[in-house]
Amino acid sequence: MKFRNFPMVPRVIYGRGSFDQTSEIIEEKRNKDYPFIFLVDKVFEGKELEKRIPLKGKDKIIFIDTTDEPKTKGIDAIRDSLKEEYGTVSGVIGIGGGSVMDSAKAVAIMMNSEGSSSQYQGWDLVKNPAVYHVGIPTISGTGAEVSRTCILTGPERKLGINSDFTPFDQVILDPSLVKGVEKNQAFFTGMDCYIHCIESLTGTYLNAFSKSYGEKALELCQKVYVHKSEWDDESDEDLMMASWHGGMSIAYSQVGIAHAVSYGLSYLLGTHHGVGNCIVFDRLEEYYPEGVKEFKYMVEKNQIEIPQGVCKGLSDEQFNTMINVSYGMAPLWENALGKDWQKIMTKEKLRVLYEEM
Ligand code: NAD
Ligand code: ZN
Repeated sequence: MKFRNFPMVPRVIYGRGSFDQTSEIIEEKRNKDYPFIFLVDKVFEGKELEKRIPLKGKDKIIFIDTTDEPKTKGIDAIRDSLKEEYGTVSGVIGIGGGSVMDSAKAVAIMMNSEGSSSQYQGWDLVKNPAVYHVGIPTISGTGAEVSRTCILTGPERKLGINSDFTPFDQVILDPSLVKGVEKNQAFFTGMDCYIHCIESLTGTYLNAFSKSYGEKALELCQKVYVHKSEWDDESDEDLMMASWHGGMSIAYSQVGIAHAVSYGLSYLLGTHHGVGNCIVFDRLEEYYPEGVKEFKYMVEKNQIEIPQGVCKGLSDEQFNTMINVSYGMAPLWENALGKDWQKIMTKEKLRVLYEEM
């Protein structure tokens, strides 16, 4: 098909306090007495939010440790234990950041797909619809709440399950849930959105569809990080919507160099997505001059420390691993630099870039 025909999240509720409507929303999707499974970031264990999760019957909370970003092995294990205990479930509800959003999508898919989730990393490899799944983000920036992918680290690669069955059936956007995120983390994840915008808006794949979302997302990021002097409730609301629009923008275009290079760091060193993107983007003046200038201003204004020297002391073999992972992301490079990207970003040049980080 020449033009891709994408599904979108069919239902979304927005508003401060909308989390408390969760029970009402999911109840009509309950299938017999099969449970709803809440995948919840471990950071909420024993906190007020945990008590507000509406459990009924056999419903269950599984806390997700996000020290590491989701792995195919972990997803398979959750699926196996749910199948063994219940046969099937009424739905999977993810409450957390990008890591938990992606885990919820992946578990929902794997409840109806055989084998390991690593077999479905790639494009359109999923053949069966997922079970009902709901995303409730608690930190803003990745756009995972709206995207058609769920990124997993598998035995061979870090890659998303990109499929028509991946997007959530329902998203609940409640800006009050993002309170309490640690300052640096909030910034790194927020910058994921900013970088999505810059990479989409300057890319060769840009089109009016992506541009309309990307420009709005960028405007909202600039409002909260550049123009406002203090962070307030409105900033949380704006960034939540920026994340949504940023995700929509890349749906019909692509990300670029920061993401391609950051995947290498993440694969080898386990660097998390948001901070990895910041480490890389900080070095990309040559490719994104205006964006990087503004980025540096936001880092300074918000008094954020970007980790330095992360590639110090790595071996040739380790550099080559990162270079190969990054080089494998051809569409990202092509979006950023055009068809002849390999002539512009040679492996030697990429090595120098990694060495500087
Ligand atoms: P995250 O989900 O890893 O969370 C980061 C940290 O913030 C964690 O320590 C978490 O416990 C904490 N946290 C989250 N909400 C909180 C709250 N309300 N209060 C206090 N602490 C809170 O981070 P992220 O940046 O949102 O997501 C990164 C993940 O998203 C990566 O795995 C990346 O691959 C994935 N990602 C997916 C997509 C997609 O389209 N599917 C896009 C970009 C990134
Ligand atoms: Zn990203």
